[in-house]
Amino acid sequence: MADELLQIKNLHAGVEGKEILKGVDLTIRNGEVHVILGPNGSGKSTLMNVIMGHPGYEMTGGSLVFEGTDIGEMRAFERARRGLFLAFQTPEEIPGITVENMIRTSRQMMTGEKVKLLPFRKELNAMMAELRIDPNYAQRYLNVGFSGGEKKRSEVLQLLMLRPKLALLDETDSGLDVDAVQIVSEGVAKFHTEDNACLIITHNAKILDKLKVDYVHVLAQGRMVHEGGSELIQQISAEGFTNILAGLDKVG
Ligand code: ADP
Ligand code: MG
Repeated sequence: MADELLQIKNLHAGVEGKEILKGVDLTIRNGEVHVILGPNGSGKSTLMNVIMGHPGYEMTGGSLVFEGTDIGEMRAFERARRGLFLAFQTPEEIPGITVENMIRTSRQMMTGEKVKLLPFRKELNAMMAELRIDPNYAQRYLNVGFSGGEKKRSEVLQLLMLRPKLALLDETDSGLDVDAVQIVSEGVAKFHTEDNACLIITHNAKILDKLKVDYVHVLAQGRMVHEGGSELIQQISAEGFTNILAGLDKVG
């Protein structure tokens, strides 16, 4: 179907010969918000990295199709060029590259066209004002000396300036303060439209407050073991994974 953005079938992947994902299926269409929940070590971050083409992870089986094209063999930058974007893992500090430079270079890579500095700077400043980010941050080195909240702001800025088709958000930091949660929550809501999609991993249901979540998937031991709607978020926040995983043992 034309509106299918990402189609994952029977995905197997791992690190250094160790299999982590053991047959994952997932279909994401334009306009949708998907959330992946799962116990620590279940393979959530691995899934994000494999979708993005992180060279440290090896895809050993299955298929990864983005807008009708098999991207399984493509390198990360080629996937980014097609509209995939991974944010909110532990943001890396990149001395020597300013926030402005990083976003401008990324946009050039994604569009394949030269992005002129002055109009870009104007657009960046406007977006920074909208996100209440101090304009001086544009000329600071990416994430160097940024507080947790400032890193989140800078990621939201990247998301909104680059406008990928599919945003992969891996909220690995469980210790986000209230302010940072608010920044991410508002930023993602501002980003999301009917013409893009989000795949979100979070341990904090508040991140999702401003979004309409379409599907929730539970990943355990490298497999999707349960799927439902947004009601699953409340259920799992309240009860943990025990009931869902216990139900599985009885079946399997
Ligand atoms: P989650 O994000 O759900 O907590 P991960 O995808 O990070 O889970 O990890 C799944 C499993 O794969 C864990 O057992 C973890 O130790 C292992 N793993 C993940 N990345 C690596 C890596 N780079 N090297 C070795 N093992 C890894
Ligand atoms: Mg993780």
